[in-house]
Amino acid sequence: MKVTVWNEYEEELLYEDVKRVYPQGIHECIREFLAKNEDMEVRCVTLSMPDQGLSEEILRDTDVLLWWGHQAHEKVTKETAERVKRHVLMGMGFIPLHSAHACRPLKELLGTSMNLRWKHGEREKLICVAPSHPIARGITEPVILEQEEMYGEYFDIPKPDDVVFLGWFSNEEAFRSGCTFTRGWGKIFYFQPGHEEYPVYRNPQIQQIITNAVRWAAPVNRRDGEYECVQVH
Ligand code: ZN
Repeated sequence: MKVTVWNEYEEELLYEDVKRVYPQGIHECIREFLAKNEDMEVRCVTLSMPDQGLSEEILRDTDVLLWWGHQAHEKVTKETAERVKRHVLMGMGFIPLHSAHACRPLKELLGTSMNLRWKHGEREKLICVAPSHPIARGITEPVILEQEEMYGEYFDIPKPDDVVFLGWFSNEEAFRSGCTFTRGWGKIFYFQPGHEEYPVYRNPQIQQIITNAVRWAAPVNRRDGEYECVQVH
């Protein structure tokens, strides 16, 4: 399957604490562990590329799109967000990570504010609450992240199809950390871990969950073009 990892790629270039954790960028770290899977062909694209890294051609050639964004959400154009949304509705899998809860395409797809509560530097225990879900494959123990940014409820999302993981934080907050949605023919998995100052994407269990999510989100059927009401004779 063809996997595209999109990263706004600003904070790794701007801030020393982030550069130290991800010297090649968050996208490269994700590409590296996904590319170890024989069934995945992985490419990285970033905001500064032509068409913001997401041309019609690239999206057509993508089965699953992962998205990491934070400070540059507003730089993503309406046109880019619309293109991504259209491809998800046609069947492309979409995995927004961490602060991509507020990225434009996800907001367009889900239609809610995506607001939440947050605080830096808490310990997280990520608990699987749907052990039979394909995204939970191999995750038999809670995942402990010694340092993670706390995201807390209420998280203003539409009712998910499934909550696969629940995050519990050392400041006694809880969060729906891994949620699935269906929009059109496409599958979406939002996954909370991955604050840029902590090496969360180097954790083997986190890598396993993201790998599982890519396989789960791959299109079952993909249509070509808009879906319209059809008069039947
Ligand atoms: Zn963060």
